Amino acid sequence: MLAAPLPDNEDARVAELHALDILDSAPERHYDDLVRIASAICGTPIGFVSLVDRDRQWFKARLGIDVSETPREVSFCAHALEDPSHVLVVPDATRDPRFADNPLVTGGPNIRFYAGAPLVTASGSVLGTLCVIDRKPRELEPFQYEALQALSRQVTALLELRRATRQLQQQLAEREWYEAQLKRQQEELELRNADLSEQARTDALTGLVNRRALDAALENAIAAASPTGGRSLALAFIDIDHFKTINDLHGHGEGDRVLTVLARLLQTHRGAGGVAARFGGDEFALMLPDASQEAAELQCEYLREAVASELMELQASISIGLAMLRAGETVHEFCVRADEALYQAKTGGRNRVAVGR
Ligand code: GH3
Ligand code: MG
Repeated sequence: MLAAPLPDNEDARVAELHALDILDSAPERHYDDLVRIASAICGTPIGFVSLVDRDRQWFKARLGIDVSETPREVSFCAHALEDPSHVLVVPDATRDPRFADNPLVTGGPNIRFYAGAPLVTASGSVLGTLCVIDRKPRELEPFQYEALQALSRQVTALLELRRATRQLQQQLAEREWYEAQLKRQQEELELRNADLSEQARTDALTGLVNRRALDAALENAIAAASPTGGRSLALAFIDIDHFKTINDLHGHGEGDRVLTVLARLLQTHRGAGGVAARFGGDEFALMLPDASQEAAELQCEYLREAVASELMELQASISIGLAMLRAGETVHEFCVRADEALYQAKTGGRNRVAVGR
């Protein structure tokens, strides 16, 4: 038995075959059909699509045989790889020195006649054959020879289609991956932007909004209250009494704790729609929409008492200046009046609420 020589491009050829990811795949109707047609045209009981792997031939489609692969050294098809442009025809294997002692000839399936048309890819590699086999010697008529060649081109077309489909799937998967990356980066960027804008609006120590954010909230609240003039808006400016002394006596850390306690109390007293802000240092503000003067004064008193009782051990207290929005007033004018009221509370003896005129 003469082993078939390896093609010059064996490594590239095997790589091309493996890239198709077709070896050991499930049967497919289109390949089965072509084998059936080839066998019918050539009048043989056996036919198959053989793909020649490095050490074996594997049958993508088969008719008349039960095995799914054979070792490459006994493969007839391996010989067909030698000449891509011709069908390898073996009229009687017992009379051919290449095959006479081949176990597939001396034993089952007792091959006598073999004809295999190479499957030649666009790059010139021969991946296998479309072949027909008979158990008795015979010849291949010219029309059968041509039909077998034509059908082998159809098998190759199926293989090329498989390759293109796989490439397309891979490109799609890559594109999806890139799109997912892009989306993730964009989300990260948005999160970072949101974080930055949050940082620009809020005070790091207390988490309250800053002066700029309060001014914006006041702007909106005044716009909402003004047209009808029916809605009230209260604004309280709050300042810790003798805060410098608290820092001096108890340390900056304890001073910070006072600031955060006050911030928390402001948050609980602001109510729905209200805004608590820290301007900086020990200066805070509270905006109370839809609060009457009485209700707002009461809120401020509660707040003042809550601070005094929560920070009793430090004898901490706050002064509050309260102003009620006047028709046609600007944010600045409103704030000036709240500030004047706070000044009154301070000069009036601290630890009190003063209402602006
Ligand atoms: P007054 O009753 O007149 O308000 O007296 P005061 O001591 O509170 O006076 P002032 O408002 O001038 O003092 C504010 C102090 O607050 C000065 C500063 O050292 C301190 N301070 C400002 N920011 C912080 C802070 O973030 N943490 C702490 N612990 N202290 C701060
Ligand atoms: Mg102060």
